[in-house]
Amino acid sequence: MCGIVGYIGTQKAKPILINGLLRLEYRGYDSAGIATIENNVIKNIKNKGRVNDLLSIPEIETLDGTIGIGHTRWATHGKPSSTNSHPHLDNSNTFAVVHNGIIENYAELRKDLENKGYKFLSETDTEVIPNLIHYFFSNSSLTGEMKFLNAVNEACKLLVGSFALEILCSLYPNSMLVVRKDSPLVIGTSQTENYISSDIPAILSFTKDFYLLNDLEFAYLTRDTVKFFDNNLNQISKNTTSIEWNATAAEKDGFEDFMLKEIFEQPKSIRETIGSHINGKCVINDLNISKEYLESINKIFIVACGTAMHAGLACKSVLEQICEISTEVDIASEFRYRNPLINEKTLCIFISQSGETADTIAALKLAKERGSKTIAISNVIGSSISREADYTIYTHAGPEIAVASTKAYTSQIMILNILALYFAQILERNLDKVEALKQELLEVPNKVEQCLKLANEVKEFANKVYKEKDIFFLGRGIDYSSSLEASLKLKEISYIHSEAYAAGELKHGPIALIENDITVVALITVPYLVEKSISNIQEVITRGAKTLIITNQDLGNKTFDKIIRIPEASEYVSPILSIIPMQLFAYYISKEKGLDVDKPRNLAKSVTVE
Ligand code: GLU
Repeated sequence: MCGIVGYIGTQKAKPILINGLLRLEYRGYDSAGIATIENNVIKNIKNKGRVNDLLSIPEIETLDGTIGIGHTRWATHGKPSSTNSHPHLDNSNTFAVVHNGIIENYAELRKDLENKGYKFLSETDTEVIPNLIHYFFSNSSLTGEMKFLNAVNEACKLLVGSFALEILCSLYPNSMLVVRKDSPLVIGTSQTENYISSDIPAILSFTKDFYLLNDLEFAYLTRDTVKFFDNNLNQISKNTTSIEWNATAAEKDGFEDFMLKEIFEQPKSIRETIGSHINGKCVINDLNISKEYLESINKIFIVACGTAMHAGLACKSVLEQICEISTEVDIASEFRYRNPLINEKTLCIFISQSGETADTIAALKLAKERGSKTIAISNVIGSSISREADYTIYTHAGPEIAVASTKAYTSQIMILNILALYFAQILERNLDKVEALKQELLEVPNKVEQCLKLANEVKEFANKVYKEKDIFFLGRGIDYSSSLEASLKLKEISYIHSEAYAAGELKHGPIALIENDITVVALITVPYLVEKSISNIQEVITRGAKTLIITNQDLGNKTFDKIIRIPEASEYVSPILSIIPMQLFAYYISKEKGLDVDKPRNLAKSVTVE
């Protein structure tokens, strides 16, 4: 899941690498390192801790090379330590490698290499790679750039798992090699310099022109050229993609944290999502789906992980009610291994903010194999998922940097609503409801603005409960899916244990956990479920719970500790509104506890490992 950055050009590499790593730190942050080549010698500086800790190592001042690679790690094999940090070198210090991903067969590769006399210093899976490259390089009769390329290609052939790799070789001080398989990596290019990164925003201030690599394609970079090869080492050609995001979109813009900035960006991000898809009618460009096809399918599957899966849950009912197509939502890591009943009569929708989520991509590949049409919903142009799916719909939420997803979630819900309307238009079903919901969607950005005005009220309540050990979230119907997301947000960034329950389910067990003074947050936005929800909340109040209610309904004269009022909306739209105070709730609790909101422990933004 880590961040990778690379530079080859005419400037000193170090400041560019550090700048890129700081921007990529949200992807992994337990250790960091950079390597450059000077006078045919690899200089390698790495350490446990954050990128800024690297700057306190005195030797870093001596890095003057104009070619370099950098890494910020999210450990999978071997604890965070200086030795386990990347870059990793081979025994002869000829090759330096940074790696994002997991080498599943590293133990056997390591044993083979040990039998050949190689020594290992770290506990990582990665360290086999530079040594394998060295092995193939030193046993090759080739010369020139093909010798370097061939050694890397032969090594890659033995690797099982996922990898994005940058490789330096001290014998080729003016070249760098990169390759990827199931892990992200992009190449930013300009006339005299080339940049590598795990994602586009980290190097957007340097260039707007990018090459996107497919699995097992190699890029051989010099200062002013980029050559591409397939895994038979045939040269292939590629065009650049120009990216329109501006670099400041990936800055904090005066906000204390990316998460707060991204929460407050939601009126804008949702407007952008709407703007690109609702223009009189709801339109999804390039989605070549016919009425006959939609009439032929008997099920829609929405498959995703974490917050994106919750966006799917929030939209199950709009697809079922407006399109009249049965819709199931599943967790990608379950779906891919449970032999799901899918075929050409199933339409599968996969949601991933980064477009690099390993389980979601694997689930998509499975659906394709079984003959389903696949649609990806992603926020990142050119991401892996968009290259695998039959169709991709972009959320246009702008770069999301904070690990805990906020604006991508609300844009995903918006896109799924628009998609439901688009399908219903094609199917000519419920056209009056389609028009009403379309009008409602157009009003959402203004309603989100109203929700953001609740920030102080939410903060006040958050400051009262931030020391709690457990917080419960309850909701019925659509509010249950929002409760799941509210609870996940809180867990992710506050480390408070939290559970979300369908309110009616509480008495079937979990109510045993309710004790005096525990905090229960209830979401009530579905008119026909108000009375039922209130009865369930009464059950926890009777057992001593403190209650925070998020609602757009009239709850009568009932007494709750705090009621937060959000704007009225239909049940299709209310998940976008009710989650705003919940995002703020998690945010303020995390801040009050003094935690790192943008980079919570053990997590990383883009989950590129299974
Ligand atoms: N598997 C490698 C390690 O644990 C790379 C992890 C990463 O992607 O940061 O060092």
